[in-house]
Amino acid sequence: MPEQTLLLGQTLTFDADPFAAGPAAARHDGHGGVLIEGGHITATGPGSDLRRAYPGAQVVDYGDGVITAGFVDAHVHYPQTAIIASWGKRLIDWLNTYTFPEETRFNDPAYAARIAARYLDLTASHGTTTLCSYCTIHPASVDALFTEARARGQRVIAGKTCMDRNAPDGLRDSAQSAYDDSKALLEKWHGVDRLSYAITPRFSPTSTPGQLSALGALWAEYPDCLMQTHLSEQTDEIAWVKSLYPEARDYLDTYEAHGLLGARGLYGHAIHLEPRERARLAEVGAALIHCPTSNTFIGSGLFDMAARVAEGLRVGLATDTGGGSNFSMLRTMAAAYEIGQLTGTALHPAQLLWLATAGSAATLHMQDRIGTLAPGMEADIAVIDLASTPAIAQRAERAGDLWEALFPTIMMGDDRAIRATWVGGTLAHQR
Ligand SMILES: [Zn+2]
Repeated sequence: MPEQTLLLGQTLTFDADPFAAGPAAARHDGHGGVLIEGGHITATGPGSDLRRAYPGAQVVDYGDGVITAGFVDAHVHYPQTAIIASWGKRLIDWLNTYTFPEETRFNDPAYAARIAARYLDLTASHGTTTLCSYCTIHPASVDALFTEARARGQRVIAGKTCMDRNAPDGLRDSAQSAYDDSKALLEKWHGVDRLSYAITPRFSPTSTPGQLSALGALWAEYPDCLMQTHLSEQTDEIAWVKSLYPEARDYLDTYEAHGLLGARGLYGHAIHLEPRERARLAEVGAALIHCPTSNTFIGSGLFDMAARVAEGLRVGLATDTGGGSNFSMLRTMAAAYEIGQLTGTALHPAQLLWLATAGSAATLHMQDRIGTLAPGMEADIAVIDLASTPAIAQRAERAGDLWEALFPTIMMGDDRAIRATWVGGTLAHQR
């Protein structure tokens, strides 16, 4: 008989999208349980019922800890792990001063392997169980992350970052080599265990039209792959794109004209969109990935979540490590709340937690496997301590309901609030 593990605690997950259904979309059980077997969740329900029904299960009792789906970080650059929180630059300067010199080091497979392992340790300690990462132009940087993730049984989406102009020596490929290398990596890794390949042009300024076309052709050959890139992060960047692509109607058109717009497209930031761009993104069902700590840290602007959701756009949440200033999806939810306040909408804690779990899973088209606690889902789980510091504990003590108890941890919590992280039914981290 396969081994069964029963996690007990407060269970919290979603039956629907709280942006549409309100906080009632959440399902909370103050004394719930999650049964894990063979890497999947096989039962959920009241903890006492599950104890009786599965007397042979190994029980892990988290008391009043909140058992939730693991966090899904929909846009990161794992190669920027070691340069997170670097001072004083905006986007283009940031890339030239910090990002590009660091990414050059990933030419060394041993360095890439070291950072990949460090990054996955850090994210597990922050409750993140799935991530979608840019790598560098070096195929070895992709191999390093996938190899490490596979050894851990972790769900990871990643791709070789393609750049054939406006990047330094040692960090440029070509239209042909970007196509060839991406295709070889895709065929090697896509669909292996829990790994998926994402076709990854960094952004229009660092690709020639020929390279974007080559990657658009690759996406057409492998339409079940995700495609990730950046869009309209800063106003200087948009002006630069207009000068590089004078024929384009707008920034999005630089992708659209080259076959890089679709429902499986992930567009990072997307802060300063024109009406045509918003309408087109909604029409094709593409996803915008909101990276709030990055947007404030690099000074990019305020993403209007409520307006984009009202327009029918699908939105995910992400750290954007290392332009984002934190590995924590809790801190990222807090920043999304703060930007919401600055754009006129107080996001409910249910909406914030949904964005960090089921919502981001949906942008990755993986909501049937990750992002909620339900039988059949992969057992990727975070356990949150609602009293992880004295400051949080004294506020949570006053809470009248679950959301009031959770919100101080969203606003003030960090890796200390993550009691445990389970990846594919295996304990990956515990405090
Ligand atoms: Zn990014």
